[in-house]
Amino acid sequence: MRPWNFSAGPSALPLAVLEQAAAEMTNWQGSGMSVMEMSHRGAEFMQIRDEAEQDLRDLLNVPDDFAVLFMQGGAQAQNAIVPMNLLGLAGHNQADYVVSGSWSKKSFQEAQRYGDVALAASSESEQRINGQDQQGLTWFPAPSTWQIRPTASYLHVCSNETIGGVEFNDWTAIDIPLVIDASSNILSRPIDFNKVDMVYAGAQKNAGPAGLTLVIIRKDLLGAASAHCPSAFNYDVVAKNDSMFNTPPTYPIYIAGLMFKWLKAQGGVAAIEQANIAKANLFYDYLDGSNFYRNTVETTARSRMNIPFLLAKPELDKLFLQQAEEAGLLQLKGHKSVGGMRASIYNALPIEAVQALIAFMKGFEASHG
Ligand SMILES: *Cc1c(COP(=O)(O)O)cnc(C)c1O
Repeated sequence: MRPWNFSAGPSALPLAVLEQAAAEMTNWQGSGMSVMEMSHRGAEFMQIRDEAEQDLRDLLNVPDDFAVLFMQGGAQAQNAIVPMNLLGLAGHNQADYVVSGSWSKKSFQEAQRYGDVALAASSESEQRINGQDQQGLTWFPAPSTWQIRPTASYLHVCSNETIGGVEFNDWTAIDIPLVIDASSNILSRPIDFNKVDMVYAGAQKNAGPAGLTLVIIRKDLLGAASAHCPSAFNYDVVAKNDSMFNTPPTYPIYIAGLMFKWLKAQGGVAAIEQANIAKANLFYDYLDGSNFYRNTVETTARSRMNIPFLLAKPELDKLFLQQAEEAGLLQLKGHKSVGGMRASIYNALPIEAVQALIAFMKGFEASHG
């Protein structure tokens, strides 16, 4: 059996996806070519691309008035691409940002290079919530506290902070376009496109390999890019060229397409959401019942995808990681800004992986607690 891989990203892919890619590596469906060797404008790749887009639309119920774009540069390139494309929408070169963790803070900082960019809310301060003192970036600012300027072109929010393990998806309709960085929870749960106007996600957390960025954007937001926006990063240009303005990341699109088909075979996003809830509940219940391990994120803001946890004795972190690896549990080291461990349990990981992790953690506590 392969080890269970808890990497935050690039992260585990379903074995079935890897095996299909391996079987098709040198000869995709009798074409005599690897997908890597195909013209991106040939009939074979066009089929792969079109099916990937349709499957993504089906999985997330993307309305027809939204464009689906396959881009490059990852989510951090979008930190600049979003303002270059959208700041001009309302005519004031303004945008507002919610900071709820490391990634949204980076988005906020990068956007400042392009216009008048303000904080709508931030969780960087300590806060008392439900009788608990919450450290900065371990809670999510309630939408009722967001200060949104009516003249701003859009509001940017991150729906899952991969590093802090903070998740928020309870969108309320706001008066300006809502832009979501969903890099680490896209396809883990439904998205309400009545309230969300644009979603972007680097594929390498929950949707495929690195090198592909998914962008889903309401079509009437297209066409407002600044004069300096590179054509390859202009949403309108990319949309008009069916994401083929320049050579797209063909192999990552193919693998993401296999992921989408795998997700459909699991029963789609509604079914995978139930599996994700079961996995996360199992793990949080275990952490909360333990005196040796703890997660410090405010209960209502806890991520289903990325679960950081601390050991009561941080001097044992190294030994924990070493023994976990020996037990076939890989890449559990926490981000350096948070410390401790982090279990990322994206769509591709089944509940058996969480069960195996808990069994190991019980044993480790019994020997060292
Ligand atoms: C990983 C991640 C990013 C950065 O993605 P890159 O593809 O490395 O630019 C941004 N936002 C979130 C939420 C992430 O998880």
